[in-house]
Amino acid sequence: MNPDQQRMEKIVSLCKRRGFIFQSSEIYGGLNGCWDYGPLGVELKRNVKDYWWRVMVRERDDVVGMDGAILMSRAVWRASGHEETFTDPMVDCRTCKARLRADQIGEKKQCPSCGGKDLTEPRSFNLMFKTFVGATEDDDSVTYLRPETAQSIFVQFKNVLDTARKKLPFGIAQIGKAFRNEINPRNYIFRSREFEQMELEYFCRAEEGMKWLEYWKEQRLKFYENIGIGRDKLHVLTVPDADRAFYSKGTYDIEYDFPFGRQELEGVAYRTDYDLKQHQEASGKPLDYFDEETKQRFIPHVVEPSAGVDRTVLALLCNAYDEETVTDEKGKSETRIVMRFHPRMAPVKVGVFPLLKNNDQLVSKAREIVALLRPQMNVFYDETGAIGRRYRRQDEAGTPFGITVDFETLGEKDPALRDTVTLRERDSMRQERVKIGDLLQLLLARVS
Ligand code: ATP
Repeated sequence: MNPDQQRMEKIVSLCKRRGFIFQSSEIYGGLNGCWDYGPLGVELKRNVKDYWWRVMVRERDDVVGMDGAILMSRAVWRASGHEETFTDPMVDCRTCKARLRADQIGEKKQCPSCGGKDLTEPRSFNLMFKTFVGATEDDDSVTYLRPETAQSIFVQFKNVLDTARKKLPFGIAQIGKAFRNEINPRNYIFRSREFEQMELEYFCRAEEGMKWLEYWKEQRLKFYENIGIGRDKLHVLTVPDADRAFYSKGTYDIEYDFPFGRQELEGVAYRTDYDLKQHQEASGKPLDYFDEETKQRFIPHVVEPSAGVDRTVLALLCNAYDEETVTDEKGKSETRIVMRFHPRMAPVKVGVFPLLKNNDQLVSKAREIVALLRPQMNVFYDETGAIGRRYRRQDEAGTPFGITVDFETLGEKDPALRDTVTLRERDSMRQERVKIGDLLQLLLARVS
């Protein structure tokens, strides 16, 4: 196994051991391509979504949000082209029965699983999950689980425009589940069958499409930097003409250097007026925009930054994982596993530890601190085991700060230290003495 594979295995194992991510339906042998987020994972994921919503919607005058249903009329998927064309060409290996994406076969036309060469011709395989709405399972009741969130934004364009009273350029943002019956779910949560997207459809005039494409690419790169993924780990791929959707005038893929290779985190695509036009034509309802100043009526163009929540979570996990050798109080060296999440993304912001669990004064002081901080941030209280062990557990969870309540807090040794605690910083392991009264402000400044 090469070092990158080893690293990936360690990350996967930590995620299970510490409760970030579990296999879906694990006790029944699992369901391929589906994952459940445990107590730490759900916090991490929520932090990603909350921060996206904050910078993409709340902090902007020109973007509003919406939350569409996963199930939509089949007509939507006909008009958008998904029913007809949202497919991957597949080949089957007659030897081992593996179903493979045609683009994974390579030059030698050989099955990557068994090496066999008896392969079928490529056939298209629709990636949408089909389902039935209502009591009868006939052709009239067919629809699909949405394979992207964008389409509900397009079909509600007029309602949002009329109610939010926005002028161009403006955007509609959405975070939600999407489903694709991927042929080969792989690389942990990277390619799943059920996942979440964070999408913005930014409507503008045709003349300004390319300008906004550049603008959003830059904004999105800043987003990743602000959650702790450095520019040196990111790569912008200009999608070549031949690989772009036929209606797109320009697409960037923002890629991250995962241990399994450089792969797409997000696509930023200039989709022109394709989607609104398709829906206007198919529904017969106007989806145009009236410009008060020029008295013109036209269908806006759209630039779409479309990011995957799960892929961002995976990038954060890969980016954070670190091992270092440290020497404990007794001079013994050991390996410290530490998740170096940006404090803004860390699932738990601070651990609070009374030095001893059987001392009422220490425990009640620690409880007071928990009560002080909890309304503002996610706090973990832990009173069991040696303090060093408690720190290590929080290092693995990626908790950036630890507060220890000790006998000095009670003023037993030095009255000047009464109501102070030690604040330990995860990455440097440095400890400083801080007044309890200063804790909230100090921590808020570092974690938000
Ligand atoms: P890929 O080429 O990797 O299949 P895509 O180009 O089809 O992705 P888009 O349709 O552009 O992806 O979807 C936008 C974003 O949604 C992607 O950048 C990714 O973050 C996320 N995404 C798409 N498919 C999956 C999946 N199967 N599992 C997890 N996230 C996904």
